[in-house]
Amino acid sequence: MLHPIPLQQTLSWQEQLANLVTDPAELLHCLKLTPEDVGYSAEALADFPLRLTRSYMALMQPGDPADPLLRQVLPHHDETVPSAGYTNDPLDEDASLAKPGLLHKYSNRVLLVVTSACAIHCRYCFRRHFPYSENLRSRQELQASFNYIGQNPQINEVILSGGDPLAVPNRYLQWLIDALFELPNVTRVRIHTRLPVVLPDRVDRALLAIMGRHAGKMVMVLHANHPRELGDALESACVRLQEHRVLLLNQSVLLKGVNDDPDTLCKLSERLFAAGVQPYYLHILDKVAGAAHFDAGETRAKALHSAMQLVLPGYLVPKLVREEAGGFSKTLVL
Ligand SMILES: *Cc1c(COP(=O)(O)O)cnc(C)c1O
Ligand code: SF4
Repeated sequence: MLHPIPLQQTLSWQEQLANLVTDPAELLHCLKLTPEDVGYSAEALADFPLRLTRSYMALMQPGDPADPLLRQVLPHHDETVPSAGYTNDPLDEDASLAKPGLLHKYSNRVLLVVTSACAIHCRYCFRRHFPYSENLRSRQELQASFNYIGQNPQINEVILSGGDPLAVPNRYLQWLIDALFELPNVTRVRIHTRLPVVLPDRVDRALLAIMGRHAGKMVMVLHANHPRELGDALESACVRLQEHRVLLLNQSVLLKGVNDDPDTLCKLSERLFAAGVQPYYLHILDKVAGAAHFDAGETRAKALHSAMQLVLPGYLVPKLVREEAGGFSKTLVL
């Protein structure tokens, strides 16, 4: 077995975010692999750049071309093969835009695209072709979204999404969350984020202070797909978040070659429990162009879900769901 990759632990999260791995040669060099070993494709890279944190890279196993974490970030030949039914906007999100950057698809909750930035580019991301530049708003421009939420009293929850909403500075985040809670109908703010998983240092004192200002009203939905993504650093970050009464949930995407076996999925749930995170959703892959090779198929998805139910307590079995264009909630796949 090759030695694990050393971590630079002295850098702040902001410095780590400014120092991401974007060069495939560096990634492969660190993992002692060649482009041929892993099916690397420059064409796929040109379509969606490589991007990951060094702390995520450190969780990979050097020398393993089939590493499930590597598979999630590596620009692969298979992405360049067109596949019927896979499109650039599989969820037809444009149809749900209430205001620029504000998606209102489900009656009592809205989703606000805070930033286009991500600390990692997941190859299966359903927003990999999202026209982010058209959906980024300045503080002043966000006022239109605040007005819309205020004028629709049935909305009681605002979901911060992106990109990754935790990629923004704490000052901006505090301003945004405080402004949302000033609207009398907003009782919860939810953050959909992969950052604590790929950069646990992101959960710093200033972020905890923001959570503390709204203790008991904040929900954080993490995104981890494999038990090896949940290291000790994430676990201690989760403990600190819970001290501020943040409800911690996790959503995963079912990905062929990453987590499409019962043992991996059960271990993921057990690791989440150990970190105090409740499994929430297991998503069937959205049919986004370039991601067909991650599709495990719905029959397999149902079989895996049943297998989890045989081994895990009910509260550690995530709901198997599919997102549909025009749906009024996620669709439960039974
Ligand atoms: C997934 C999603 C939500 C949140 O749905 P929950 O079932 O509450 O987690 C809200 N709005 C949009 C547009 C979504 O895609
Ligand atoms: S939005 Fe989420 S799934 Fe998509 S690339 Fe960013 S972190 Fe990955």
